[in-house]
Amino acid sequence: SLEFRRPEHTRVISVTNQKGGVGKTTTAVNLGAALARGGMRVLVIDLDPQGNASSALGVNIREGGPGIYEVLIGEHTLDQVIVPSGEDPRLLCAPSSIDLAGAEIELVTLPSREYRLWQAIDRLLQDERDDRIDFVLIDCPPSLGLLTVNAFVAAQEVLIPIQCEYYALEGLSQLLKNILLVNDELNPDLRLSAILLTMYDGRTRLSEEVAREVREHFGRETLQTMIPRTVRISEAPSYGQSVIAYDPGGKGALSYMEAASELSLREEQHVR
Ligand code: ADP
Ligand code: MG
Repeated sequence: SLEFRRPEHTRVISVTNQKGGVGKTTTAVNLGAALARGGMRVLVIDLDPQGNASSALGVNIREGGPGIYEVLIGEHTLDQVIVPSGEDPRLLCAPSSIDLAGAEIELVTLPSREYRLWQAIDRLLQDERDDRIDFVLIDCPPSLGLLTVNAFVAAQEVLIPIQCEYYALEGLSQLLKNILLVNDELNPDLRLSAILLTMYDGRTRLSEEVAREVREHFGRETLQTMIPRTVRISEAPSYGQSVIAYDPGGKGALSYMEAASELSLREEQHVR
């Protein structure tokens, strides 16, 4: 059986890659569900206007219903918009909102525009008592705009999912440069803590080559566990479930459980 370690302080992890379709949302949802299955209390924040993480967790984004947009503009607290996922009481979701699409622009004129998510999370964690959240996973949109900057300011860790495909490393140096910029200007604690290889297909040379190349450059950061390409993983969201709930015995679920265990056992280097 897999080992999980509850962190001493809440670990806030930004799941980021400015490329779309690399498995960010799938990873935020399934790692979150896996950590919850491992006994952790987990909050998934859906920072993508598409709202895919919310619906994959069985959470409806209602027209005008309060979500992360209302939190960012200061109309609601995070506590007021958090809802339990459909599958596990330890797995919570701060849903996206339809209006989030405009936030990238609207935020520009607000005070402390880069710190709004940090403020909201900080307040939530300050108010907590016995029901402490162990992990906050932030599902980022596919860009390095102000929403992602908010995630980088709020988090101590960045987890980058990399799809085992052509051009896997494209854009990675820009992403790493942005982490350094954020270190200089906004959040010295932010660091790349994990790379997760996704959609691995052991039958192709290409997958193998990409995995080898990533490990060559990022041996320390890259998780041992790779997520295989499986139909079950791609089907689960249409049932409003993680693959952990949808296909518990399958290899997709198992791989996310293993990745979650690995992540939870990694040292926390930063204290909030
Ligand atoms: P992103 O959030 O980076 O845009 P998604 O998590 O939405 O990426 O994944 C893109 C697509 O790939 C989705 O249709 C998703 O269901 C599918 N997908 C992601 N991971 C896997 C996997 N391991 N096996 C099969 N399909 C996957
Ligand atoms: Mg996504």
